[in-house]
Amino acid sequence: MPQRAVVLLSGGIDSSTTLAVALQQGFETYALTVDYGQRHRRELECAGRIARHLGASRHTTVRVDLRAIGGSALTDAIPVPLDRSDAEIAHGIPITYVPARNTVLLSLALGHAEVVGAFDLFIGANAIDYSGYPDCRPEYLAQFERLANLATKAAVEGRGTFRVHAPLLRLTKAEIVRRGAELGVDFSLTLSCYNPDDTGRACGRCDSCRLRLKGFAEAGLRDPAAYVTQ
Ligand code: ZN
Repeated sequence: MPQRAVVLLSGGIDSSTTLAVALQQGFETYALTVDYGQRHRRELECAGRIARHLGASRHTTVRVDLRAIGGSALTDAIPVPLDRSDAEIAHGIPITYVPARNTVLLSLALGHAEVVGAFDLFIGANAIDYSGYPDCRPEYLAQFERLANLATKAAVEGRGTFRVHAPLLRLTKAEIVRRGAELGVDFSLTLSCYNPDDTGRACGRCDSCRLRLKGFAEAGLRDPAAYVTQ
């Protein structure tokens, strides 16, 4: 019997590649998408298509409306920063930070895992080509893993030990693109943009688009996503 893993799947290239890695490692995968009221709603549709394309055993969407909290350009009426330079993206924590997002997402993944009998949680966090979010750092993920083993009935009763896997943590965006391509991820199904237009085309100008385009360029691959401008 393959071991089960819960994989957080947003619909972007990082989480899609993470799902492909979990499958390659032989896990029976339970993909989990969280509809937190993100303005880039189309990524939720992408997540479902990717889960089917890659062969997740199950795909579940949980709704937790973080618009009630706000405080982020992704969930509130705050403009998404555009056209920032690599140096600007690398410095500080931008307004696209969603308060405590990865803690919310991992907590939901943990609860789902406890119910389906999984002890392995996968998240596409990355601490190299990223936007400086504090909940993407390795020390944060290590602490969440400790918490998971303190906070759950499954761990306290000794049925297993939770592990948080972040297989992309130390990869550059170019390495993530290459890894995903090797594992057969169809990147035309993914959407990374924080600010897509009504037809789902990426803006090419937000931090997420800029990191993605830089990753494809450095990997020497063509990005199959549709862009408004390029
Ligand atoms: Zn964009």
